Amino acid sequence: MADIIRLLPDHVANQIAAGEVVQRPASVVKELLENSVDAGADRIVLVLKDAGRTLVQVTDNGKGMSPGDARLCFERHATSKIRVADDLNAVRTKGFRGEALASIAAIAQVELKTREHDQDLGTRVLIEGSRTRGQDPMAGPPGTTIAVRSLFYNVPARRQFLKSDGVELKHVLDEFHRVALAHPDIAFQLLHNDQEEFNLPAGSGPALRQRIVGLFGRKYDERLVPVEESTDFVRVTGFVGKPEFAKRSRGEQYFFVNHRFIRSNYLEHAVRKAYDELVARDNYPSWFLYLDIDPAQIDINIHPTKTEIKFRDDRAVYAIVHAAVRRALGRFNIVPSLDFEPEPAILAGLDQSPRPIQAWRPQDLGAFTAPPRPSAEGWQQLFQMGMATPVDEPVVPAEQPRVVPSRNHEVEPGERPVFQLHGTYILAQLRSGYMVVDQHRAHERILYERNLKLLAQGAGISQTELFPRHVELNAADLALVQDVLPELRSMGFDLELFGGRTVQVNGMPAEAADEDPAKLLEQLLEQLKHEKGSLRNERHHVLARGMATSMAIRAGRTLSPAEMHDLIDRLFACEMPYHTPGGKPTLITYGLDELNERFER
Ligand code: ADP
Ligand code: MG
Repeated sequence: MADIIRLLPDHVANQIAAGEVVQRPASVVKELLENSVDAGADRIVLVLKDAGRTLVQVTDNGKGMSPGDARLCFERHATSKIRVADDLNAVRTKGFRGEALASIAAIAQVELKTREHDQDLGTRVLIEGSRTRGQDPMAGPPGTTIAVRSLFYNVPARRQFLKSDGVELKHVLDEFHRVALAHPDIAFQLLHNDQEEFNLPAGSGPALRQRIVGLFGRKYDERLVPVEESTDFVRVTGFVGKPEFAKRSRGEQYFFVNHRFIRSNYLEHAVRKAYDELVARDNYPSWFLYLDIDPAQIDINIHPTKTEIKFRDDRAVYAIVHAAVRRALGRFNIVPSLDFEPEPAILAGLDQSPRPIQAWRPQDLGAFTAPPRPSAEGWQQLFQMGMATPVDEPVVPAEQPRVVPSRNHEVEPGERPVFQLHGTYILAQLRSGYMVVDQHRAHERILYERNLKLLAQGAGISQTELFPRHVELNAADLALVQDVLPELRSMGFDLELFGGRTVQVNGMPAEAADEDPAKLLEQLLEQLKHEKGSLRNERHHVLARGMATSMAIRAGRTLSPAEMHDLIDRLFACEMPYHTPGGKPTLITYGLDELNERFER
């Protein structure tokens, strides 16, 4: 029998290989943009027709290619980025496999125009289905333009698999976002069907914030909290979204490692964990996080499209990312809601005492000074300042009649005005406005943190019942109670298994002394059932949260001024005063300017 094995002609082999690299227009966009970044461009223009299926064209002002390279770049494994296998350990460029252009040229009509900066003439290469159709010298600007036309023109089966223009465009934009976010220092422009979709200047100063706003809209400006954490081994920077802007749908969640977009369930977990009890479980916060790490510490070569990487020491990376986000969130927690911008006059009036709260203005990306955590005392100071401050700074334009809101005349120094609204909210004055505290939620936060501490220490105070009470439980609930008995005791439940299915309640947590023990237990067990199989640590959270929800004072309960003060003081002594453990706001602040505006001052 005659030999039947044959080597495939190059263009067929390339076409097969292309399947791995080029699935859709978005893949072409990614590869071309990354090549331009690698070429050192600081301005990149992407032009699309019909979501890229008719045309993907990328123009850059990067270093360009020599005539020889312009021909060679379409060969498989042609790359200028690594030379020997060892270089793989130090890759800092996007590409290095030398496959992209060869693959693209196998399944499209490609025109390359390129000129090196120190050359008078450039080169133009036409290639189609891996066959070179021509190469000529050409006059043109320095840098490179690659136009990819009629994608999959010679692979009808692939062409048919493309989705609607809307879907393909979405994929293209995903890639565009990633590259644009990874390189805020590069200007990007995107035109689709002759319409400008994006024009992003090269950032200076707070480049990343600008870039995020440029891509996702003005509204993002107020949503971002800066992250900055450095160790010898990795640096984590970027932004995370404020918890209250977490969305039902998976929003903008980006990790970049050495300016390369990556996916990582592991790191995602680290971030989500940092949002624990700040956002509801089914809501997704956004993040834009950048890790800088020695390339020797990572292995990027495990996935063909390179969006997954392996860290040599992934536990350390996890811990640092988690801590960085947690700290950023804690830091933000103080200021934006209280919106306190110290004025020099006030600071002077304070007799050099430390500022209770430092202003953090979202616009300074550079300044990562962490404001101190609020404390009950700091909070009092804030109040007092509100009353003691002479209002010499006009809150209204000078020409208009100045109606200065009365701040102090009916208030004795040292007394802090508070007011209860509808038995539900506490109204309190701030220096720059006022705040409305939800009494139930505030109490919930206080109790939650208290419970967590008690659980950690294992010693709660219970108020002994005059007459022990008995609670009848079903078998399943009884088993659950037995299971968490030590925890219940540390939170202040003095329980005894009475025999049968009866639990004897000798004492209740001091704060819940008025509650009906049966009801409280029942509510708690209900919450626990939803969290079966939880880790021990998570069980603490569930218990602390369940108890807090059940015990917190309800709406409708009238509070005395002293009780209101006490509640507010304790709220601000909390670690995370601004949200319930479930992620709902505990208080809302209003600026005087809002009032002035509504009164048309
Ligand atoms: P890789 O990026 O993995 O090296 P590619 O097939 O994407 O492989 O590109 C092959 C080579 O062509 C690159 O290594 C680079 O030398 C050159 N090249 C590609 N695009 C550009 C560009 N926009 N400017 C300058 N050189 C480029
Ligand atoms: Mg490349």
